[in-house]
Amino acid sequence: MIGLSIVIPCHNEEEVFAELRRRLESVTLDLAESFEIILVDDGSTDHTWNLMQELGKQDSHYVCIKLTRNFGHQRALTAGLDFARGQRILILDADLQDPPELLPEMLTLMDQGYHVVYGQRIDRQGEGHFKRWTASLFYRLINRLAERPIPVDTGDFRLLSRKALDALKSMPEYHRFVRGMVSWVGLAQVAIPYTRQPRVAGQSKYPLPRMIGFALDAITGFSIKPLTIASWLGAASASFGVLLIAYSLYSWLFLNAVHGWTSIIAALAVFNSIQLLVLGVLGEYLGRLYEQSKNRPLYLVDEVFRSHEA
Ligand code: UDP
Ligand code: MG
Repeated sequence: MIGLSIVIPCHNEEEVFAELRRRLESVTLDLAESFEIILVDDGSTDHTWNLMQELGKQDSHYVCIKLTRNFGHQRALTAGLDFARGQRILILDADLQDPPELLPEMLTLMDQGYHVVYGQRIDRQGEGHFKRWTASLFYRLINRLAERPIPVDTGDFRLLSRKALDALKSMPEYHRFVRGMVSWVGLAQVAIPYTRQPRVAGQSKYPLPRMIGFALDAITGFSIKPLTIASWLGAASASFGVLLIAYSLYSWLFLNAVHGWTSIIAALAVFNSIQLLVLGVLGEYLGRLYEQSKNRPLYLVDEVFRSHEA
């Protein structure tokens, strides 16, 4: 039985490998339990897969999984979690923004009975104002909307017990916001504060459009409040419309006024944009419902590499 699995999704991370290996070696050196390190190549177009196999050949702790294409961070992570055999599972990013050196402290907390020990960023070094600001806005927004609180300023950096992971694995959703799903599971969870470091090398794989997509997945995955808000918006615009009709009838009957087109255009613009907005909100849910209903696998594995059959 394996004590600990470390799961690391990687997409075009060739520049970080040497450092990743060095840091993991020093962290796992004092580990009392047996461990495996699961690297998932999420459709990299650089030398990531070759480097992974090199690592796998040299060190039998590594299990390397190559997906058939890029499935995105959350699904690559899901693939790694599905392969994990450990009694405890550490989720880590390849770029070492989250220090693996916290592992002993996390293990100690888990020994005290917690099933989830999640990293909580008290500071984000090396991340621009824009990323900090949007991230902070996002966590506050999702917590207003979601029915269950999702801890603010967390990432996927966390230690899970086997029980928590098995619960997570029972959730089949296609659009995944893993940190929210872990929080939804319940069980005893605790935060461990840390300072987020800059990437050791390479570029963030989350440009703005991806961040927006991720935020929409999170919101639609954890709340139907936007649909309720859409109905309220519809009701508010209808009430406003009734007032406008009353006003125009009154002007027509008593003021003998010729309406200018400014007011007509303004009313048209307001009502049309509200309609489009409401349709857009519906569309976000409908599209996701459609994709979920196709029931496709979350990811496909091309190859698994281990230096020996464990
Ligand atoms: N990643 C991935 N697939 C993707 C994008 C990212 O597996 O399509 C991995 C990436 O290699 C890294 C982790 O997800 O290990 C987090 O990505 P990144 O560091 O670029 O995100 P950021 O920290 O900037 O939010
Ligand atoms: Mg990163």
